[in-house]
Amino acid sequence: MAVPQHRASKTRKRLRRTHFKLSVPGMVECPQCHEMKLSHRVCLHCGTYKRRQVVEQA
Ligand SMILES: [Zn+2]
Repeated sequence: MAVPQHRASKTRKRLRRTHFKLSVPGMVECPQCHEMKLSHRVCLHCGTYKRRQVVEQA
């Protein structure tokens, strides 16, 4: 197994980890109300999908 020749410094370790990001996948802006929604899902805020009303508003 490959063994690192040198121990990574605190800075190098931290720089590498700047690329480890928490991601919220599939969130897009609703074209109708501009709220964040899951892509390929009906917007929970305004009840539209592809600019068409598909869920009645309460
Ligand atoms: Zn919406």
